[in-house]
Amino acid sequence: MNALDGLAWTNRFASLGPDFFTELPAQGLPDPYWVAHSPACAEVLGWPADWTQRPGALAAFAGNTSWPGMRPLASVYSGHQFGVWAGQLGDGRALWLGEVDTPAGPQELQLKGGGLTPYSRRGDGRAVLRSSIREFLCSEAMAALGVPTTRALCITGSRLPVIRESVETAAIVTRVAPSFVRFGHFEHFAHHQQLDALRRLADWFIAHHAPECADAPEPAVALLRKVALQTADLMAHWQSIGFCHGVMNTDNMSMLGLTLDYGPFGFMDGFDPGHVCNHSDDRGRYAYARQPAVAFWNLHALAQGLLPLLPIDREKDAEASTERLLEAVEGYRERFASQMLARMRAKLGLAGEQDGDQALADDFLKLMAASRADFTISFRRLSRALSTPEPLRDLFIDREALDAWLARWRARTAADAEARMLAVNPAVVLRNHLAEGAIRAAQQNDFTEIERLLKVLGRPFDEPALPSDAALPPDWAQGLEVSCSS
Ligand code: AMP
Ligand code: MG
Ligand code: MG
Repeated sequence: MNALDGLAWTNRFASLGPDFFTELPAQGLPDPYWVAHSPACAEVLGWPADWTQRPGALAAFAGNTSWPGMRPLASVYSGHQFGVWAGQLGDGRALWLGEVDTPAGPQELQLKGGGLTPYSRRGDGRAVLRSSIREFLCSEAMAALGVPTTRALCITGSRLPVIRESVETAAIVTRVAPSFVRFGHFEHFAHHQQLDALRRLADWFIAHHAPECADAPEPAVALLRKVALQTADLMAHWQSIGFCHGVMNTDNMSMLGLTLDYGPFGFMDGFDPGHVCNHSDDRGRYAYARQPAVAFWNLHALAQGLLPLLPIDREKDAEASTERLLEAVEGYRERFASQMLARMRAKLGLAGEQDGDQALADDFLKLMAASRADFTISFRRLSRALSTPEPLRDLFIDREALDAWLARWRARTAADAEARMLAVNPAVVLRNHLAEGAIRAAQQNDFTEIERLLKVLGRPFDEPALPSDAALPPDWAQGLEVSCSS
């Protein structure tokens, strides 16, 4: 056992008490090895670049030992899955280790894939190498894109077999975030009528993660308003980069508005508003175009979870408190619309605000959808279309319609828009086939492609050295399917 010099752990979540979690050690990986680590995430923590080489680091992040001060626990939560109340869930394979102090404030560290917990239900408590690589790369890619997200510090691996559709091997991702509290944590205590616990959770969360809400006349309403606005900002981010989460259940919704629980996510290639990235989502509940409405629905589930915190002295009050919560959620709509429009203006290089901007943006998206034009490449090529429109035109079937749109756009956009557009329209996103390339190599014990991609994804607005990193998916990638299995 060892630790980084002077690293002090706090365990503020653990201070909530046993209603909220079960303390237990990880079931570590046998004969672990390093698969990957993120220097950018280590920098957030203020850790030295060589931290993985410190004695005991591998054992600690493979779940085999604890550093002094770590206090592993699995938390309990519930949630709505695919629109239906799912009852108790909880950290079935995640373990909170505690918080470390960093230049960016306290950060929670969590192992994902560290073995069975009381909340594992029928699961095995493990995560496979494949999904761990996807979560690791995408967390770090999203951070580099400026999207609020949990971070990923490292992956450890093992030959331990794990059975999914086929036999794979086990891995553990260490995730980092100021808090991993989910909508489902609040829903849990409200649904089970543990009102003291619900109040303690709300007070605790507000004190540590939303202190500005503490002095509001009704802190729970202020908290909901804050979460609604943060969630709106997150949805505008996702929509503006063509990101599909895949499993927007309320237990995967962060109380801090972070992208959380990377599973069958996907960045769209050809633009299709109805795109469903999760092969198991056969009704398309979580299709790209539905994400903003689903987030709004999820906020109503959170409102239900907070309702018991409001006073019910008289019937009239009960109605009034429902109204106040609904009004807080309602703030989402305006915020999402204005954030989305602001992001689209930036993507189109429009300075200032004019009346026709929304229509201009909508019409470009319609043209993209009609041609199934690649989401990322369309905006990247549009960034250069003032001087060189041909590469953009190549993506569209109806060139006349595109030319008509380009004429409107040219009349509206500034002559010097190119540099600004290139700084907001990424060249590189984590397309499924890029992740797949890194996964296939890693399954043959070659981790260099993960490291290479991590670097490229860390500078998403630069042209990559390998043009294929920014290109359309190759033919072999057409049939790639991503399911919930992870
Ligand atoms: P997800 O759909 O991945 O967000 O997970 C939903 C619930 O299933 C959560 O309570 C997870 O902790 C749990 N879960 C998912 N995979 C596993 C697994 N392999 N072992 C134990 N629990 C799991
Ligand atoms: Mg989850
Ligand atoms: Mg999952």
